[in-house]
Amino acid sequence: MAHLADLVPVEMQLVAPHSWRTIEGVYVNNPFLGLGLVLLLLTTFSEAAPLRIVATTSLIADVAAAVGGNDVEVTELIPRTVDPHAYEPTPRDMARLQNADVIFANGLGLESFLDRFLAVSGATHENKLVIVSAGRTPRTDEQHGKEITSHHDHGETDPHVWFDPTWVQLWVENITSALAERDPEHASTYRSNAASYHNQLSTLDGWIRKQFDAIQPQQRIIVTEHNELGYLADRYGVTVIGTLLPNFTALTESSARSLALLQKQMQDSGARVVVVSYSANSTMAERLARDTGARVVRIYTHSLAPIGSDASNYLSFMSATTTTLTDALREEAP
Ligand SMILES: [Zn+2]
Repeated sequence: MAHLADLVPVEMQLVAPHSWRTIEGVYVNNPFLGLGLVLLLLTTFSEAAPLRIVATTSLIADVAAAVGGNDVEVTELIPRTVDPHAYEPTPRDMARLQNADVIFANGLGLESFLDRFLAVSGATHENKLVIVSAGRTPRTDEQHGKEITSHHDHGETDPHVWFDPTWVQLWVENITSALAERDPEHASTYRSNAASYHNQLSTLDGWIRKQFDAIQPQQRIIVTEHNELGYLADRYGVTVIGTLLPNFTALTESSARSLALLQKQMQDSGARVVVVSYSANSTMAERLARDTGARVVRIYTHSLAPIGSDASNYLSFMSATTTTLTDALREEAP
């Protein structure tokens, strides 16, 4: 097996710590940790180490990568298709958060674990946490109250802002400021990346509007899982007539009554499309659809699709969501 010293350039060996033996010992016992040390040394001694960004969700990570370009290193914390509401970070996640230069989070109550992380790890980490949705008034529980079966467990606010591209333009602004402040050397690149991505989001917004406008407003009626499409509904004139889940925990006795009420609302309103997440258990949605003659459609809700598939970046995620919804609304129209 090669020695660590053989892997390190000569000039680095000259400035490396004295305790080679210890490092060699670690390397021999654990080749992966050893390679990690080499990478760490290379990073430490390189002049322009990229900013290490940890984004809580894949949606935020994708936008951060669009702004940061080649000058940043972005990782996603919560695995794709895992529900962020109930997410419990692993010890490895905690270490990633600690080692990050910047943490980008949605905020608005989505990542409840961040409070615990900050409580444990203290003030130094508070400074690197950037809430990308900060600076605009979110939807509230009062607006959720319009849907009789929905009692969201998100607290005061609706966190699902990414279903409105103009909110993602706010993410872009917040991400750009945070990167420019921490890495002024690349600030002009970040700003120019941001301007170009901002334009793509405007184009996306116009395209989505056109797709929904092509459907009669009285036909744009859907049922969702836990009211995750409120921002999309508000922006593009879609009515969410009801939701399947009263909260994020297991169903309670009252949910049977809620479901009966929802069924009646669907029949009265002519709603024929039930939207659920790919990661959700769809038993209840299928039953409701069977009883009302509606169709169940699946979309990615809280994350991008797995890497390599359609909808694996924000722009394609939104166009896939729009196409799925508008196709179903059009085909199921009475
Ligand atoms: Zn949600």
